Amino acid sequence: MSTLLFVGLSMPSHASDAATIPLSARIAMLTEQLDSGGLRTQPDSDLQSLPALRIQIQRCDAYPYHDPTVTPSGAPQLVEDLRSGLETGLRCLAGQGPMGRLHPYHEYQAHRLLTLLENDRPKTLHCVADQMFATAIATSPGGTDFDDPLVRQLSLVEHPGILLDTYRLGGILSRKHDDETYRAFFHLEESEIQEHRNGQPLRPANLHRYKKRPALLFHETVHWLGHQHSAIYPDLTHLYETCCFGGSDYIDDEARNKDYQQTACAILRDDEIWSQSYKPYKQMRLWHLKGYDRLKPRMRSDYDS
Ligand SMILES: [Zn+2]
Repeated sequence: MSTLLFVGLSMPSHASDAATIPLSARIAMLTEQLDSGGLRTQPDSDLQSLPALRIQIQRCDAYPYHDPTVTPSGAPQLVEDLRSGLETGLRCLAGQGPMGRLHPYHEYQAHRLLTLLENDRPKTLHCVADQMFATAIATSPGGTDFDDPLVRQLSLVEHPGILLDTYRLGGILSRKHDDETYRAFFHLEESEIQEHRNGQPLRPANLHRYKKRPALLFHETVHWLGHQHSAIYPDLTHLYETCCFGGSDYIDDEARNKDYQQTACAILRDDEIWSQSYKPYKQMRLWHLKGYDRLKPRMRSDYDS
């Protein structure tokens, strides 16, 4: 399946010999092009673009946190977070990060992601505010199932695209709850409910503000390759984020994060499981037999918020 996808991708002329250029050089070239100085604003629109990589950024002035006191912000910060995430993530998959070599299957995923980023197809980053339950979601090459609860939001962008919700990223309380929810769950006074609805939205201490934004953006681009979340198959986006970016944003304890990071990287080095990448059923059985399916639930139970 992955081989077919690779063969089917068209390469632009400047990358026609991409297969012969070392991954490290392609990563360096990509991160050089991901420079916010190259951003162009379309007159009379909320669209900004990075022509070198065909990246389009729509309505992201409030990125990252929908909080005017946080600077720098907007499209330049988004480009910087994407650059940082791709540099760390791609180097990690290529076996050139601080965690050392992983199984060559992941090097191949780095190659696939680079090929997608190097090609001429537009890539869209679109921001919304208070529209989703997730901080970010990404399109998948196979399209979205109609019963996916995110189908309406995902229809805002073409593949490859990412939607980011600046309310969820910022830990800002949704404005869409009813008054009873504000009273019962958030213990707001009537005056606070009024202010929240009509003035500055509130940011309660128990809502999480996402800190590792480069990790999140890299995670979303891995979805572009067709890797989806699963409890029964290897969850590559989760493993890559945990191994390459040092654990979870929802866990504050450094020692625990380090432990989870090492476990995820050890899984990503396991030849037995990745050499079965084209035999999903066998791989699924191994994933369970080796107890690798327990990592994600274990991390979830450690979440601080
Ligand atoms: Zn995801």
